[in-house]
Order: sequence, then structure tokens, then C-alpha cells
Amino acid sequence: MTGASTYDLTGKRVFVAGHRGMVGSAVVRRLASENCTVLVADRRELDLTKEEPTLRWLEANRPEVVVHAAAKVGGIAANNNFPVDFLCDNLALELNVIRASHTVGVQRLLFLGSSCIYPKHARQPIAESELLTGPLEPTNEWYAIAKIAGLKMCQAFRRQYGDDFISIMPTNLYGRGDNYHPDHSHVPAALIRRFHEAKIVNAPSVSVWGTGTPLREFLNVEDFADACVFLMKNYSNDLPINVGSGDEFSIADFAATVAEVVGYEGELVFDTSKPDGTPRKLLDSSRLRALGWRANTPLRSGLAAAYQDFQKGYGRHLEVRAAT
Ligand code: GDP
Repeated sequence: MTGASTYDLTGKRVFVAGHRGMVGSAVVRRLASENCTVLVADRRELDLTKEEPTLRWLEANRPEVVVHAAAKVGGIAANNNFPVDFLCDNLALELNVIRASHTVGVQRLLFLGSSCIYPKHARQPIAESELLTGPLEPTNEWYAIAKIAGLKMCQAFRRQYGDDFISIMPTNLYGRGDNYHPDHSHVPAALIRRFHEAKIVNAPSVSVWGTGTPLREFLNVEDFADACVFLMKNYSNDLPINVGSGDEFSIADFAATVAEVVGYEGELVFDTSKPDGTPRKLLDSSRLRALGWRANTPLRSGLAAAYQDFQKGYGRHLEVRAAT
């Protein structure tokens, strides 16, 4: 079953929950070229981890479409160190946004998950049918369990009430608006920052976590936002749908590419005291491709744009380090 289905966004009110994050902000940018009204709520105005205010806000603003991009996210270390935040905050966000969306009669909801929902030793490339066929990767199981629960909520609301709620599973994302925290970020942002700082001080070597052998697929966040809008308009099914680029690299090759883009010429030293995480994570995105969508940003140009974005906000990123 392809899940092909047509939905007209014209004139619709679209609420992007989590519009300040890397994904939410990219979705807002992408929606600007659609003929719809984008609704956002600042965290000071609305705390989505609170049930009542979330329902009241949705009742007052009456969106027809909701993109649930609000999530507590982070890299391998953050997941390991803050299990309560990753499990409980994400469950609260999902329950409040999804249930309130049902209550106010939202026509279409996009729940954004993650490729880490799949088992650690899933068959590669990972098809959607691999879900819940084996144990999870322990370094991010808190986040994965929360995201699986969100996906199941969408399926449950569809089954019990016929709600048109869909779940989208992106591969590893990078790009504009990423979190450059030195310890809590994902590998693209972490290496952009570390290599940039090493270049500035002419450091002879710089560390890369793990053995360098894990394989990861990377997708630019602007491409992902484009896929979200595409699926909003063209997909309706209770199966989650994978969104990947098909571009897979070892962490060693990926790190070498980041170093080239940043212009760092020193040595890369692999710190094997740090975790590798899951050995391979390549999504099977053939269902999405069959619907007619594919990624179009090559890694190198996507990383170059991300590096420019990082440099523009460099002062801000330094403040992040000072404050946390
Ligand atoms: P994952 O895909 O859920 O494992 O998320 P990450 O983006 O955090 O890590 C991807 C891979 O990059 C793992 O094998 C990490 O060990 C490796 N890696 C190498 N250097 C770094 C780094 O500085 N930060 C992070 N987060 N990962 C790194």
C-alpha cells in the first residue's frame, strides 16, 4: 500500500509546533511558498508540555493542519545523560499536541519521529516494517521509546476515530538552525564547531568520537522540510514513512568531509572511549520515492551552507557554551 492521497493546503491554517528548532524553522521557511497561513506559538506564550494550555491554545487558534516538530532532541551523549528529559518531555509534548489536535478536529497532523525508533540490528536499509522487530540501541532508547509512543498514538487516533494523522521518520538531519552545543549536539554540528575552533587556534589534531566505522545517512533539513510539505499534501496511511537521502558515509569519511568544508587541515584522532552508537542506520526510503519525492542537496554543498549559518551565529553558539 503506497498511502498516496491528495490534500489541498490552499487557505489552510497550519500550526508548526516547535518552530524554533532546526526542523520546525525549516518547515516554516518551506511553508512560506505555499498558499497557507502558518501559526506558531512562542514558548513564553505556550508551554506544550502542559495539557490544559495546549488545548486552550488550539481551541483559540483552530488550525486545520498540525506539524508536530516540538521535541527534546540531542546527540548520543545528551540521550545517555538525560534519560528523564528525553522520555518524559517528549511523551508529554506528543500526548498534549496529538490529543488536543483530535479534540479540536485537526484535519491532518504530521508527527515527526526519528530513525532511532528502529531496532539496533534492523535489516539494512531499514524498511518501515522493521519497527518493533528487535531491541533498540541503548544510547538513545529513551528518545526512541517516546517517538514510538507518538507514532502509536497517531495510529490509535486513526484506528479509533479515523483521524488523518501521519508519522514521518527522518534519517540523521543537519543544516541551518542546528544545535551547536559542544557536548549535546549531533555529529554534524559537533564537528563543524570543533573543527572551526581547531582551525582558529591552529590545533595540530582534533578528536572525533568513537571508532569512525559506524555508518550514517545524512539529509539536509531544507530537503526534509520539503519532504514534510510533500507528504502533507500526498500521503495518508497508518504506516510511518521513512525520509532519507540514500547518502551513506562512515563517520570517518563524514568527518574528513566536514574538515574539508571547514578548512581544517590538522589530524583527526578517533576517541574510542566515546560510544559509537548503532553500527549502521540507513533508511529504506523506497515508499517515499515511489510517491515521487527525492532529496536534492549534495552533502558537501549542504555542509557548506550549514557552516556559513554556524559562522553567522558563532557568538550565539559561544554563549550557549558559557551558559550550560
Ligand atoms: P546517532 O546517529 O543517534 O548515533 O547520533 P550522533 O549524531 O550523536 O552520532 C553519530 C555518530 O557520530 C556516532 O557514531 C558518534 O560516536 C559519532 N561522532 C563522532 N564525533 C562526534 C561528536 O563530536 N558528537 C557526536 N554527537 N557524535 C560524534
